[in-house]
Amino acid sequence: MSGEILKRSLDFLPRRQAGARDDKQAMDNKQVLEKFEKLVAIQSVSTDSKRHKEILKAADFIKKELINLDCQVNLYQKDDCPPLIIASYNFCTDRSKNCKTIGVYAHYDVQPEDPIDQWKTPPFRLTVKNGKIYGRGTADDKGHLIEILVATKKSRNNIVFIFEGEEEIGSKNFKELILKAKKDLKEIEAFYIFDMGMKDKNIPQIYYGLRGIVAFELKIKTSEIDLHSGVYGNRVPNPAQLLADLMSRMKDSKTGKIKIPGFYDQVKEITQEEKDLLLKSNDTLLSKIYPSLDINGMISGYTGEGSKTIIPAEAMVKFSIRLVPNQDHKKIEQLVEGFIKNNLPKGVDYKLKIFGGNDAFYIDFKNPHTKKTAKILSQVFQGETKFNRSGGSVVAAEILQRLFEKPVILIGFTLPDNNIHAPNENFDEEMFWKGIVAIEKIFAQ
Ligand SMILES: [Zn+2]
Repeated sequence: MSGEILKRSLDFLPRRQAGARDDKQAMDNKQVLEKFEKLVAIQSVSTDSKRHKEILKAADFIKKELINLDCQVNLYQKDDCPPLIIASYNFCTDRSKNCKTIGVYAHYDVQPEDPIDQWKTPPFRLTVKNGKIYGRGTADDKGHLIEILVATKKSRNNIVFIFEGEEEIGSKNFKELILKAKKDLKEIEAFYIFDMGMKDKNIPQIYYGLRGIVAFELKIKTSEIDLHSGVYGNRVPNPAQLLADLMSRMKDSKTGKIKIPGFYDQVKEITQEEKDLLLKSNDTLLSKIYPSLDINGMISGYTGEGSKTIIPAEAMVKFSIRLVPNQDHKKIEQLVEGFIKNNLPKGVDYKLKIFGGNDAFYIDFKNPHTKKTAKILSQVFQGETKFNRSGGSVVAAEILQRLFEKPVILIGFTLPDNNIHAPNENFDEEMFWKGIVAIEKIFAQ
């Protein structure tokens, strides 16, 4: 970081209450930014096998930081997958002190930086400019990870850190690795997942629901080769037409309603109280609280230049369904399987592939941990905390809740314009420093 840029960043010291703009604080903030800069410089792109060494380097960097905090650190791996870092910060070993144990999740892997020509600053060089901290992973999720490490110094409770290295590639080993570490997590009273964003600047937000997902691939084959449509039209089934018919029978394109019998049977009803709560932070509810089905890709027959009058031999569709609370993804898989079997003409040769799914995540938004956290956030940011459900999925949240049955609170301090997964990713400077204060308060509660 150049001297000029660093100086400007240090002029900006909202981290402590008024009167604390002293040299000591400036030194502290400088050290935090230097740490952040080092972590961003490590190109821990989990999807790129050529940069696997960088993943290990990031894990090693974090491990050293945790050891400096006097944590006990364990790295869990399957084959050579990115390590899951589990560390315990034991502030009080004396049980009479009435300490809590808090679980804290963040991830250290990042998305690829391309298209690189659209970046205005080098993606892996932390750059502070115009009130924003730029660099790949600043917002998602290295900034939160740094904030957590800094805030830990002020914790009056025990903390168990869960730092994942394969969130951006679907957390495929998370469940297996977390189970290996189960004994280290058994005292945890509540989990905090720092991988979400705020509603807007100084308007904090807590997510208490996420959708689940199941994904499918269906292939239909009606003949060995493509056939002449003049000769065989109306005489043989057309697989592309069959798939189109099937998919339109599966979902009403006007209302979005999924027409698979029994599909909505388990859906958790939404109370008026919750609707009112959600309306406070959303313009539209539809996309987040209802299930949805989407065709992700479809291919069949001739798709090249000009025309070719054939009846294709095969057709393929990929589709996925987003699930809401109480829907069991295994049961939905069975319903889809049955629906396809019953709705394709007898004798049609088909193959259905199901890609491992996960259930939706939901916790009671009135649980005491969530309420306390909302109060802290409102106080630190001087704006009322909103409650929200997300249309997407965070695999770790659902797994932690299912395995440990403790409240899981999803928060974070990034803003809607922080360009997550895109060029010029950034973390708002003011939200970054205030985020540290918020986490300190959460750790001290
Ligand atoms: Zn993330």
